[in-house]
Amino acid sequence: MRLLLLEDEGDLATLVANGLHQAGFSVDRAATLAEAEELTRHFRYDAMVLDRGLPDGDGLSLVRGLRRRQDTTPILVLTARDDLDDRIDGLNRGADDYLVKPFALSEVVARLRALLRRPHSAVDCVLSLGDLAFDPDTRQAEVDGKPISLSVLEGNALEILLRRAGKVVRRTQMEQSLYDSGTVIGSNSLEVLIHRLRRKLDAAGSACAIVTVRGLGYLLQPMPPL
Ligand code: CA
Repeated sequence: MRLLLLEDEGDLATLVANGLHQAGFSVDRAATLAEAEELTRHFRYDAMVLDRGLPDGDGLSLVRGLRRRQDTTPILVLTARDDLDDRIDGLNRGADDYLVKPFALSEVVARLRALLRRPHSAVDCVLSLGDLAFDPDTRQAEVDGKPISLSVLEGNALEILLRRAGKVVRRTQMEQSLYDSGTVIGSNSLEVLIHRLRRKLDAAGSACAIVTVRGLGYLLQPMPPL
């Protein structure tokens, strides 16, 4: 198992690296965000251990970048910030677990092993298909990297379709996910919503299409080249 350790305090980094070696991990060390970004572009890691307070920024920005690239490598954040908001912020931005300094080495190892046992898909990544992307955290949709403006309901519909891209989503399933059980919806509410979403994707020049599968539901797919 190969790990990336991003920690700028030399003594602490050496201590943690030694502990991880002893636990049987191989460890690459980085002391700045820039170094870590360079390493993650060239190597695949089984997990990462990141500090937040770094000379060139917040370790969480690396997490954000990885998740945007659909990289679900498990990430354990080590930090001196023990504020509840900081911890929630870290988890919201794609970290998998959090450990507040000072910590015991044995706990770092135990938490890493727990993360490595988990399926990697637990992280909410940016969803994408072809030129289309949707960030479930910020609810922002993009076509070819350019933001498009969607209503809450349109964003929700796009998210459902993207999560099952290439597969048919049944209309009953979509209605149940989109509308509260108490809401009275018209028989064509979903059609109208899909129609609006299609027009926005078209207007933004997306090469993805929402296909109606008669009697079943909808399917989001990249349009075949003409
Ligand atoms: Ca630091």
